[in-house]
Amino acid sequence: MLKNAEISIRSRRSFIQKTAAGMALISIAPTAFGNIVTGHKAAPQSKPWIELSKSAYLHNAAQISRMADGKPVVAVLKNNAYGLGGPEVSKILDQSKDIFGMAVVKDSTALEMRTAGVSKPILLMGDFDMDLADELIEKNITLSVYSKSSLDKILKIGASTIKVALYIDTGLGRMGIPYREAVEIAEEISKYKQLSIEQTFSTLTTPKDFATEQIARFEDIITKLDQKGISTGLKHLAPSYSLLDLKNSHQEAVRPGILLHGSFPLAHMDQAANFPLKVSYRLKAPVIRLEKLKAGDTIGFSRFYRVEKDEWIATLPIGWADGYYSGAENGALVLLDGKLFPVVNVNASHANISLGAKTKIKVGDVATLIGPDHPEITPEGFGKLVNGHNYLQINYKESIPKKIYENF
Ligand SMILES: *Cc1c(COP(=O)(O)O)cnc(C)c1O
Repeated sequence: MLKNAEISIRSRRSFIQKTAAGMALISIAPTAFGNIVTGHKAAPQSKPWIELSKSAYLHNAAQISRMADGKPVVAVLKNNAYGLGGPEVSKILDQSKDIFGMAVVKDSTALEMRTAGVSKPILLMGDFDMDLADELIEKNITLSVYSKSSLDKILKIGASTIKVALYIDTGLGRMGIPYREAVEIAEEISKYKQLSIEQTFSTLTTPKDFATEQIARFEDIITKLDQKGISTGLKHLAPSYSLLDLKNSHQEAVRPGILLHGSFPLAHMDQAANFPLKVSYRLKAPVIRLEKLKAGDTIGFSRFYRVEKDEWIATLPIGWADGYYSGAENGALVLLDGKLFPVVNVNASHANISLGAKTKIKVGDVATLIGPDHPEITPEGFGKLVNGHNYLQINYKESIPKKIYENF
């Protein structure tokens, strides 16, 4: 018992030392967040983790609203907030005055956000399980009518008030009521007094000429419904790309995902100069093994990396099964002790880093794989080095613990 207590006191102190200057850690009851850790866990860490900066998220939300001349932001936090923690990120953004509400694709995600304490509107842009319907209504989740059959399904819920959103397909062809049928279905919705249309939305494609046509289709539907006295609630069309590319996509609110985390949808977008975003997260992992390999030794099942001259190789406990991009072995760098080192091998559960002929790195030292600390390890910098894109974090596993900081 005594021994455990000693370890936990010591580890807590060393954690606090490591997280010096400006990195005030917010303590949050783990129960409210599932897998959040508060920094009081035993160190050295044996697994990867993600750090989130509250101030970076609030800054990005404000910048995005500025991009749209002050219009509110519907934060798209699908896929576990692009791999960074749906409950955690939504809880941070719930405190932003620039955020109108959240949008997700899975019913369970919407409920988890309520459990985390989110009070702003939550829009479910996908289908729901009928056995979760009562809970979704009780927790004030806005359900999308995205087809005739989805309306029939919502009408089977025996609640006296149901908030719905009219999800229109103006040409993406993936989800939503085909635009030619949207007026008719909205009219039908308006006949049911338990249903109220809180939001009306569609998604734009990237080619500018077609997106412009989609906006015209959307606005034509809104005009017709206005004439019939059917209210359509908050109207939004624009994911990150359209928000930046087409001003008249802004409507009454904008609906970005990737920008919230501090990345533009494409590398080198001109707008980055006018609207500087902050990378909102770090992906970190400790060195768990350190060995000097000899010239001729190889690393990996396929003997992917061949040691040319004797060199120190560090092993990090993160791999593609954690959602780390396997292509990182083709050029990514990580930050360790203030210097950049190449990733030379990625397997399912481990990644290897080449440290060169001499090293001061020790087992237990912590590598930053992604973060704001150097241009080569930002999501955009990483994406460029590995010939990928800015959305690669979307695969991070939910099981990776999250730590929330006031700021980095
Ligand atoms: C994913 C998604 C978005 C956000 O896309 P970003 O490119 O991340 O801004 C917006 N709307 C819908 C319907 C989406 O599915």
